[in-house]
Amino acid sequence: MSVDTETGRRATAAPPSGDVPPAIELRGISKAFGSVQANKDIDILVARGTIHGIIGENGAGKSTLMSILYGFYKADKGEIFIGGKLTTIPDSQSAIRAGIGMVFQHFKLVQNFTVLENVILGAEEGRLLAPSLAKARKVLAELAAEYELDVDPDALVQDLSVGLQQRVEILKALYRHADILILDEPTGVLTPDEADHLFRILQGLKDQGKTIVMITHKLREIMEITDNVSVMRRGTMVATVKTAETSPEDLAELMVGRKVLMHVPKGPANPGKVVLEVENLAVRDEHKVERLRGISLQIRAGEILGIAGVAGNGQSELLAVLGGFANGTGKIRVNGVELDLTGRHSDGQSRRAQGIAHVPEDRQSLGLIMDFTAWENMAFGYHNAPEYQKNWLLMDNDALRADTDKKMATYDIRPPIATLAAKNFSGGNQQKIVVAREMERNPDLLLIGQPTRGVDIGAIEFIHKQIIALRDAGKAILLVSVELDEIMSIADRIAVMFDGRIMGERDPATTNERELGLLMAGMGEASAAPTKGAA
Ligand code: ADP
Ligand code: MG
Repeated sequence: MSVDTETGRRATAAPPSGDVPPAIELRGISKAFGSVQANKDIDILVARGTIHGIIGENGAGKSTLMSILYGFYKADKGEIFIGGKLTTIPDSQSAIRAGIGMVFQHFKLVQNFTVLENVILGAEEGRLLAPSLAKARKVLAELAAEYELDVDPDALVQDLSVGLQQRVEILKALYRHADILILDEPTGVLTPDEADHLFRILQGLKDQGKTIVMITHKLREIMEITDNVSVMRRGTMVATVKTAETSPEDLAELMVGRKVLMHVPKGPANPGKVVLEVENLAVRDEHKVERLRGISLQIRAGEILGIAGVAGNGQSELLAVLGGFANGTGKIRVNGVELDLTGRHSDGQSRRAQGIAHVPEDRQSLGLIMDFTAWENMAFGYHNAPEYQKNWLLMDNDALRADTDKKMATYDIRPPIATLAAKNFSGGNQQKIVVAREMERNPDLLLIGQPTRGVDIGAIEFIHKQIIALRDAGKAILLVSVELDEIMSIADRIAVMFDGRIMGERDPATTNERELGLLMAGMGEASAAPTKGAA
């Protein structure tokens, strides 16, 4: 199948044979938010009993389109056909009546209710709660058995993992007899094992004749589980193709509108002297709970150590101590010089002076001042640098702005307006501002947390290239990411964190997702031994 990415010519997957009407057909759907045209004349056909993927960069209009289908937004124009019948969906009750269920990106469960209560909430009329609960319990048990959807019906939602909460959302939809299930970025918060489990559930639902629409930005998931895939770009529907007839490369090109390298080429590492040495590092949070339990590691010049793990296993604390945002005990040396971990030189400013640059995980709170302009943010943390001083009193704002213009060009930051406030850039461009600032300081050690979270596929390629270029320029890089794909494709060594410890270290060339996934779940050897720089 081929699609002209210039003209965005549509190719539509073959409609199902026979007289089975499509589960969903949207015709000419448009929706604007103020001046933003979120959906522009969208057509899509979803065949009954299939898993249909929807992909597109951030802001392409995927969530808007599905929210229209679920009655959450009203389209400005266009028609919705469900099972071949023209259907108006003014609210979610109507969507449910039309057999549509939706699992949102941010779950809408009541945290201090039980699973059972959440499932029947809003679905049962009248005050006959006891019989409803009994009936629901039975239905849940059936659903659980049929679709690998087991959750303790009496557990409080607040005590459940994210993966289980998602299961409750699915149960809730099925309990309301959903025939069509829409999931918006369902795997963003899941471990690889949980994602696999979810896919088995979806497969089971499909086998029972249900129709699944899944929004994701992960091409691997599209290839693995969908039958057809629709690609959106800047509010338009670019193409719908059969998954078996496409490839990740083609899909990426359709999404971005140009060729994208899925894996940035990278030569072997050429590690030099040890730059970072961490010995027996421990950190306690404000409740005195140990968040890091004796971390030891080394990174040499010219190599990338990737830290893999499910979010919340100590990775953030590791970055925080290294970056000077938190105190710890143990030893950290950079180029042989010991860092202050508790005293008055334990701050971001001192760390920068010691050759450490930091792209923080949470760019909005730690990386940027959202109300300040791009050029002010480009100097954030480095405003005392000699090249930015006009005289002993004033900063050289012209020099700063010129410097920002240059970085905006190099890093393709859009729009290239130095005077625009940080909050007015998209997430990906905000990230590029931080990356540009930190990388251009030519650090010896770069700490980089979730570099591509919320970043578009085109910008991911660019940021990965920059990280590898920095490595090849002989810098030591600590990369923390919850995206295994990212770690696998750019790290030279992979350490897996679980519960504040390093569970083990693997060579990306010889390990695989399953092995890493087990370590991420806390299974496998807990190695207290220091990780060694590739000698
Ligand atoms: P996606 O899910 O593909 O990332 P969305 O459908 O969320 O994209 O957003 C499409 C566009 O519409 C974006 O530019 C976004 O900023 C805008 N948008 C979405 N929801 C709203 C809203 N409630 N108000 C204003 N703009 C919105
Ligand atoms: Mg979305």
